[in-house]
Amino acid sequence: MNKIEHIGIAVKDIENSNRLFAALFGKEHYKIEAVESEGVMTSFFKCGPNKIELLQATSEDSPIAKFIEKKGEGIHHIAFAVDNIEDEIERLKEEGFKMILEKPKKGADNKLIAFLHPKSTNGVLIELCQDIDD
Ligand code: ZN
Repeated sequence: MNKIEHIGIAVKDIENSNRLFAALFGKEHYKIEAVESEGVMTSFFKCGPNKIELLQATSEDSPIAKFIEKKGEGIHHIAFAVDNIEDEIERLKEEGFKMILEKPKKGADNKLIAFLHPKSTNGVLIELCQDIDD
C-alpha cells in the first residue's frame, strides 16, 4: 500500500459543501463526477498534495445515504493508492481482512476501487484504489 490517495467525506448537500470546502481551501473543486454503481455524486478538492472527496447520495439505498442515516455527515473513508489492486486484495485476504466486494470496480476519478469491511479494520472504512491507465 502506498500513500493516502484521498479522504472521503459524506455530505447531505454537495452544493452547500462545495461552497464550504472551497472557502476552507481557498479554491474551487477540480472535478465533479457521478458514480452510478455507488449511487453517489462526488466532488474532488486538492489541498496541496492531498485530495478530499465529497460524497452525496443520489439514491436512498446508496451506501452514503445509509451512512448518513446512521452516523450523520463526516469522514466516510480513507483511500490508499495501490499499484496492483488484485494482488493487494489477495494479500489482505490472506492476512485475514474482509473485503466488502472481492472484485474491484470502476470508481470516481479514473480508478479501480475496492473497500475493506470496516469490521475488520477497527471501524475505519478503507478504500484501495489503483489508477486506470488508458
Ligand atoms: Zn473514495
